Amino acid sequence: MTALPTTLPFDNSYARLPARFFVPQDPQPVPAPQLLALNSDLARSLGLDPDWLAGPEGVQMLAGNHWPEGAEPIAQAYAGHQFGGFNPQLGDGRAVLLGEVLTDAGRFDIQLKGSGPTAFSRRGDGRAWMGPVVREYLVSEAMAALGVPTTRALAAVATGAVVPRDGFARPGAVLCRVAASHIRVGTFQYFAARQDREALEVLTAHTIARHYPQATGPLDLLRLVAEAQARLIARWMALGFIHGVMNTDNMAVSGETIDYGPCAFMDAYHPETVFSFIDQRGRYAWANQPQIGAWNLAQLATALLPLIGEDEAAIEEATAALATYAELFQAEWLRLFAAKIGISAPRPEDRALIEALLSRMAVERADFTRTFRGLATGQARREFADPQAFDSWAPGWQARLLDEADPQAVMAAANPVRIPRNHQVEAVIQAAVEGDMAPFHRLHAALQAPFEDRADWADLSDAPRPEERVARTFCGT
Ligand code: AMP
Ligand code: MG
Repeated sequence: MTALPTTLPFDNSYARLPARFFVPQDPQPVPAPQLLALNSDLARSLGLDPDWLAGPEGVQMLAGNHWPEGAEPIAQAYAGHQFGGFNPQLGDGRAVLLGEVLTDAGRFDIQLKGSGPTAFSRRGDGRAWMGPVVREYLVSEAMAALGVPTTRALAAVATGAVVPRDGFARPGAVLCRVAASHIRVGTFQYFAARQDREALEVLTAHTIARHYPQATGPLDLLRLVAEAQARLIARWMALGFIHGVMNTDNMAVSGETIDYGPCAFMDAYHPETVFSFIDQRGRYAWANQPQIGAWNLAQLATALLPLIGEDEAAIEEATAALATYAELFQAEWLRLFAAKIGISAPRPEDRALIEALLSRMAVERADFTRTFRGLATGQARREFADPQAFDSWAPGWQARLLDEADPQAVMAAANPVRIPRNHQVEAVIQAAVEGDMAPFHRLHAALQAPFEDRADWADLSDAPRPEERVARTFCGT
């Protein structure tokens, strides 16, 4: 492999950690890389030249065929609870970390996802197909535009090879993902499961230095991760976002949303909504996400316990750190949902007002995004199969808004016009597979301005017609 002379400002810290944290792993070459999408703004913010990235050398790098000086490709080791069952060894099975870059905004991982088999692949082929790559690109960038902490998409590249999936030969693709880090709850579990106290100490010190420099130790780290997750999951809830596979290996300690496998935004509101095909029991349904967040954090606490101390006092302290999650989540939930109905300074009793609206929405199958957006424009009642259900709620709400200075502005800033709706994402993937990226670029552009009402994008705010509804999503594997 030839190293390309470029100026990527690599400064790799994870590759400096002990050897058992990762396996050196070169990305495997692909036959005919072709750029599908490039995030020029993100490239610039990372100190990368978008024109170079879009050129032949850049595309070769984004596909994993060559990599620049300073890259040290590794597959990271981690474990995780998958649907509640512990797997002591997962790890990057279809991704490699090229390295980290230091920018004005901090340190970022540059990862290639779908770049071929690694020591952690076990059964899989280490590849990805265009569907999940396009989905992750669109949805993660939409989340960023909505102000939600998330990993980012720098580029999507078609490989020119096919990958077998569900009996079909699918076009292969590689996503170049950018993240504050790829350290997961499952990374801590990996070393805890091996009773490798020294590694836990190293990982804790690395995570504190990287993400929570204010943390005084492992207990404080636990508390800060819990707070970040409370804020994050509250944001998901307020957008009708369903992550779909909240296994502990898919929870980043940085507090970024990570791993957009079977994720989806709700159209019609129902708290038990589940899209993921593999989530047969609805473990990761929309309404379960806050409790699952707490459950995952309890796993992090368990992994950290050897460092916190295993006596009763330590367990009490860890429990208290976890209690801050529930408190902060409740406060954030109230703040975000109150803003959605135009209330800038919520009172405890506003919770009942919000819940009354949500339960009516569930019964009437009102569209989540359109109902909230419609509150400011008088269109919300139309979203209810029986508008009476809305009319009986509205007077109490309007009375409450008399105490607010500018509820219209509060609602306009809290309720997006556009979210990545499943049926649109599927249509974009279908077109991409057929070689047409125009629908992708149009939807992507619209999702970059999610609060902007624009006539030429009006169709992108429509709920799916019954025949357009997508009931199931699939993991990227
Ligand atoms: P996920 O459920 O997508 O977060 O992945 C769970 C585990 O399966 C991780 O260790 C992944 O690296 C691994 N994995 C997922 N897809 C593949 C694939 N196509 N090839 C190899 N490993 C995979
Ligand atoms: Mg994962």
